[in-house]
Amino acid sequence: MVQQPSAFENALQQLRQAATLAGLDQDTLTQLEHHDRIVEVAMPVRRTSGANKGRVEVFTGYRAQHNNSRGPYKGGIRYHQQVSLDEVKALSLWMTLKTAVADIPMGGGKGGIIVDPKQLAVDELEQLSRAYARAVADVIGVQKDVPAPDVNTTPQIMAWIRDEYEKYIGQPAPGVITGKPVEAGGSEGRDVATSEGAFYVWDQAAKKMGLVPANTRVVVIGFGNAGSFLAIRMHEAGYKVVSVSDSRGGIYDPNGFDPSAVLEHKKKTGSVVGFGSSTSVTVEQQISLEAELLAPAALENQITQSNAESVQAKAILELANGPTTPEADQILAGKGVTVIPDILANAGGVTTSYFEWVQNNSNQHWSRQDVFAKLQQKMTAAFDAVWDQSQKQSITLRQGAGVVAVLRLAQAIKQRA
Ligand code: NAD
Repeated sequence: MVQQPSAFENALQQLRQAATLAGLDQDTLTQLEHHDRIVEVAMPVRRTSGANKGRVEVFTGYRAQHNNSRGPYKGGIRYHQQVSLDEVKALSLWMTLKTAVADIPMGGGKGGIIVDPKQLAVDELEQLSRAYARAVADVIGVQKDVPAPDVNTTPQIMAWIRDEYEKYIGQPAPGVITGKPVEAGGSEGRDVATSEGAFYVWDQAAKKMGLVPANTRVVVIGFGNAGSFLAIRMHEAGYKVVSVSDSRGGIYDPNGFDPSAVLEHKKKTGSVVGFGSSTSVTVEQQISLEAELLAPAALENQITQSNAESVQAKAILELANGPTTPEADQILAGKGVTVIPDILANAGGVTTSYFEWVQNNSNQHWSRQDVFAKLQQKMTAAFDAVWDQSQKQSITLRQGAGVVAVLRLAQAIKQRA
């Protein structure tokens, strides 16, 4: 069996490379190589469905707090059978870099529960989410650590966690978690914020690369929150979306299709597979499809040493966190593929989460138009900073983003020392 690369080792390699390119001092790097705190928690759930109905099953979860020099820890909670300590460590480190690139006053954290939520009934999912909220209640908080959604976690789950946390502390605290339903203190636009932000970033990159929508074919891996809305946004802007996929497989049509119709198909059947007259493809095949833009929006380690050489796209827009391994990065750079890194490309999610937190803490509710105008301004500024750094040092955009992040972090760390 091929050993999965360690996501945390990949993240550390990226951090160290950025530190070298930024001329960062060893003391600051050493701090950034370590997490401030990691907790492992156990959540008992009395099963109301499945083979273990009536029995208590104990699920394991984590909250990793990497660094809060720039503000409270911030980062999503993932429900997935492959969640591991290694993964939450990597994801929280990337969050520290991402909040710095986006230039929002927050740090980096991440949480997760080892569970396949599709195997749980709704009441079990609620029990599990509330148990998680109680288990981490002492380490999260409006000014301490503010979680959000990630893979397989929804606005409803955020609302349960907020409610349970408020019972625990005995007072309202809407800003303890973001990505809530709009009616329960959420921000307008948070549902599509990651893809909207990625779209703004791509818009800038496309201009630099001389790509226009009509001549740009788009392949999206993963058709969840990030991937489906990106595909729809791209289609609406005149791009030709030729392939999308989910955990059950992918579809391809060289003439393009309407991703909103694919979403309808997925709602009915549970998967994108079998949509219209499309051909079935695997994710591995998607990676080598003839297209201008490849947008991974599922999990880590999808573009690796073994398939990077086959990439035909001119650019990769990383909506997922850590979809490209460092070895693949080198191959892609050699081929002249522009990789727009996760800590820039998908920062629209956390930026809008930050907007939600600001609104909660000041009893405001901004319009969707206001949220997107602020988001566009933030994402464009982040893109410009990363682009300029990359040009200045003749380095890749990932390296440029890393340098921008560690320089900002170093300032915050030193000013507090
Ligand atoms: P989601 O649960 O809504 O969707 C995940 C999608 O990936 C689903 O369609 C699933 O079927 C698919 N998938 C899972 N395994 C797959 C595989 N092996 N091959 C192909 N598809 C597969 O999750 P999401 O929130 O859209 O998150 C997706 C990625 O984007 C993650 O890496 C996440 O960390 C990142 N991200 C999300 C946000 C956000 O706001 N939701 C913000 C920043 C980054």
